[in-house]
Amino acid sequence: MVFKGVNTFRSRITLLTGGLLLSLSLVLVTYLYHVASTRLSAASGESLVSISQSVSNMLTASLIEREREIVLLSKRLSLYEGQDLSGLQETIDQIKNSYKHYAWIGFADENGIVLASGDGVLKGADVSQRPWFIHSHSGAYIGDVHKALLLEKLLPKPKDGMPIRFVDFAAPVIGKDGVLKGVVATHADWAWVKEVLASSFNNEFNGASVDIFIIDNNQEIIYPDNYVGEMDVPNTLPNSGQFESVVWSDNENYLTSLVTVVSPQSTQLGWRIVVRQPADIAMQSVREVHRLLLILGAISTLFCMLLAYRLASSLSLPLERLARTAKRIQQGDRHVTFQDDSHLNEVTSLSRSLQEMMSSLLDREQTLLQLNVTLEAKVQARTAQLEASNQSLKAIVRQDPLTQVFNRLALDEALQKEYQSVRESHHEFAVIMVDADHFKKINDHYGHSIGDKVLKKMATILVDVIGDAGMVARFGGEEFTVLLPNVKEKTAHDMAERLRQRVESTDMHEALFVTASFGVAMCKASDEHYEQVLNRADAALYKAKEQGRNQVILST
Ligand code: GH3
Ligand code: MG
Ligand code: MG
Repeated sequence: MVFKGVNTFRSRITLLTGGLLLSLSLVLVTYLYHVASTRLSAASGESLVSISQSVSNMLTASLIEREREIVLLSKRLSLYEGQDLSGLQETIDQIKNSYKHYAWIGFADENGIVLASGDGVLKGADVSQRPWFIHSHSGAYIGDVHKALLLEKLLPKPKDGMPIRFVDFAAPVIGKDGVLKGVVATHADWAWVKEVLASSFNNEFNGASVDIFIIDNNQEIIYPDNYVGEMDVPNTLPNSGQFESVVWSDNENYLTSLVTVVSPQSTQLGWRIVVRQPADIAMQSVREVHRLLLILGAISTLFCMLLAYRLASSLSLPLERLARTAKRIQQGDRHVTFQDDSHLNEVTSLSRSLQEMMSSLLDREQTLLQLNVTLEAKVQARTAQLEASNQSLKAIVRQDPLTQVFNRLALDEALQKEYQSVRESHHEFAVIMVDADHFKKINDHYGHSIGDKVLKKMATILVDVIGDAGMVARFGGEEFTVLLPNVKEKTAHDMAERLRQRVESTDMHEALFVTASFGVAMCKASDEHYEQVLNRADAALYKAKEQGRNQVILST
């Protein structure tokens, strides 16, 4: 029952369309999602690379600038060769004040003793063992970021509580004689890197959870400060200028880009700018597009299913209406008609054909019904005729052809019936045997045809006298039998006497008078067969003949 609805043309088309469209939508959405995620991932990666590149460029530019500054200073200092140090001190102070991130700037002689410095910090200190002093004898030097050592106690504590870190820039001061006079150096506060990053960091990434790291040659994070020594960098990182999806130490997947900072020729710092963004956030817009596509797919599928349902309905409804009409006709409704107002030509044509077929069938049915009625009437008439013929045959079979009274067969049947009735109801019946006297002589004297006429006349007399009181039958030859049901012996005898007198007194043919003898017998309870009463009547008749004829003898 539940699935009955699925078996209609409408639901099948609707489900099929829905299924096809849904599958198509899923395939399309999956494909588009794949394309979009690949493209967006590439776009996001590219933009991360571009951030890395931009940061790297800014950093490189800044490094070059700092380097150029120290080189220029070294050239100026060489002019003060062996001169008054107060001028030197003044120049150094000017430079230090010209750039706020210079935490320290100073000049050490060829033995590593600080002769002049900004604000006189570390003046007279021995820096001969410091890397910047050692490595800057032949050219400019940029040292990797490091914590403040000697200056730690001399400089004010930073507000964020982080240790003070420097990047050292140093350049040799060469005298006119080409001999090394000393080394000039600056310690740039690491905070300048933050400023560089802030100026290169594109505002459009604010809130997009983009992290920027600077890592050094040892795969250690050197920026930002709060991650220094706190977080490990993944072992496998993309090549410079590339991006990859990388799992970081927090087990999260990040779209990660890397660009190597091109440091000035003097020193290979090996810094790398790593920019990362959580893959979830990078792909968020793709997921939104995916969800939107799915919703659009579902809505368009539903819409198409609705359209398909309407279409299938417009196709199947006329057919269903035809089926309903056919069903009503089958159930006996002869007044319905197949409507041919469908907008589908095929259905209209089918409807008309069905209507014509039905009209033709109804005509035939009507003809058959009429034929049936006629046939029934004919059968009834023929049956009645047969019945009548049967009745007349029955009568003919039981009638004597000469005298028209009952014959021996009819007499036997009547006697049988009367005998049965008497046995059941204890009524009595009487039999009178009648025989014309000397009939042979009449034949001999008048001829057979007159004899026949006399016999007919005798029968008429018997019927006339007996009337409804009994039946008259020709027993054979010139003998007749009268059956009188439900009579007493006396009545039977009187009836016989009346018959005798009537025969005797009737002119049979042109003054031809005949007589007849009568034997009367009553049926008895002891009779085992009706023939016994006939026999007794016959015996009484014989006695009447013996005693002179023309008389009635009652059997005793
Ligand atoms: P009885 O008084 O003793 O009865 O004498 P009967 O001559 O009447 O009796 P019998 O038996 O000797 O003769 C009967 C005659 O009846 C003989 C026969 O020719 C005649 N008969 C029988 N049937 C017919 C018939 O159908 N037509 C004519 N015309 N004669 C018949
Ligand atoms: Mg006789
Ligand atoms: Mg006779």
